[in-house]
Amino acid sequence: MTDPKLALSTRAVHVPAADPVGGRPLSVPIYQTSVFAHDDAKTITDALNDPRGDFAYSRLGNPTVRALEHAMAELEGAAGAVATASGMGAIAVALGAQLRAGSHLVVQRSIYGGTTGLLDDLVARWGLSTTEVDGDDPAALRAALRPNTVAVYLETISNPMTVVADLPAMCAVAREAGVLTVVDSTFASPMVCRPLELGADIVVHSATKYLSGHSDVTGGITAYADEKHFRAGWAYAATTGVTPDPFATWLIIRGLQTLGLRMRQANSNAVALAETLAAHPAVDRVHHPSRPDHPQHELARRILDGYGAMLSFDLAAGEHAARAFTASVRLIQQAASLGGVETLTVHPSSTSHRSFSDEALAAAGISRGTVRLSVGIEDPADLVADLTQALEQC
Ligand SMILES: *Cc1c(COP(=O)(O)O)cnc(C)c1O
Repeated sequence: MTDPKLALSTRAVHVPAADPVGGRPLSVPIYQTSVFAHDDAKTITDALNDPRGDFAYSRLGNPTVRALEHAMAELEGAAGAVATASGMGAIAVALGAQLRAGSHLVVQRSIYGGTTGLLDDLVARWGLSTTEVDGDDPAALRAALRPNTVAVYLETISNPMTVVADLPAMCAVAREAGVLTVVDSTFASPMVCRPLELGADIVVHSATKYLSGHSDVTGGITAYADEKHFRAGWAYAATTGVTPDPFATWLIIRGLQTLGLRMRQANSNAVALAETLAAHPAVDRVHHPSRPDHPQHELARRILDGYGAMLSFDLAAGEHAARAFTASVRLIQQAASLGGVETLTVHPSSTSHRSFSDEALAAAGISRGTVRLSVGIEDPADLVADLTQALEQC
């Protein structure tokens, strides 16, 4: 209780927190506080300097945020993890903490558009240089390395063609050369792939996608094999202020609790839809690592648990068929995101890849008849029915 001799307006300001007595909250509490009070200056200073210490100021550390960081570090087998306000924030932290003016990066071909935009900006602003290689070509990676190469940037499963990176081979080449490997594993989630176990140094996720899983929050996370890189990432995130809000973080924690169940259902739905699509006369080609004709099918069997729930397919009749398909789905929603409980579709050449020329699309393996699906957790029979009726319109 606050001192009853104080004025009412003062007592209204100083609301004491209720300490739980004799019971622990089962759900992680939302510490919706920007700052933490201490009894002496030294504990504040210590907290401000230590990502593993006490809490002083929420941009540098918050108990709700740290709960997510601990959970993700465990799932990825990491020394530590740093949560961010978005997936792009995570990528900016993973790279920003390592790069210097003039650094060279080796980057997988056809990565997420937002990341390409960030790299283009870094190149223009800080004199960075990049070399593109295929994600499953360790010889090309070896040839691309330079004395000023600081990192290799890969994606476990690419958008929208579901190219699977040969993480063991690529990480081995980078490691031998003393170069870090950074892997965007958003399309896989730790249920499908754990890049640090395969030799990567830093893994990044857009938590907006599978980790939260309900299309209701934007967030990101970086996880580090090494304590030194974790501390550098934490310092960079705290300095640039890309750390997340406790409530957004709590939504991600809540989603994470069902990640295993959701991924199991979505992965098995995706295999079923890929089969349906492959057997349909309107479809030229299905791109999903479960398909025996997928270029990295054998690699996917080796390094993934399940094949993921992202897939794309090429409609034989091209662009107008793709537009007819995305306009005809009923249960499936047309939306430019992924990884939620609901099945979504997009037409990449008019949305995520709209700035690509015909040559650039061809180089990425995308046609104007390519359609992407983010497969959700609905009953597979309902998804097959919606897919089939929409394909009738193509
Ligand atoms: C969505 C996405 C991002 C960016 O994440 P945001 O949460 O939107 O900032 C990065 N990489 C991949 C592969 C994504 O799908």
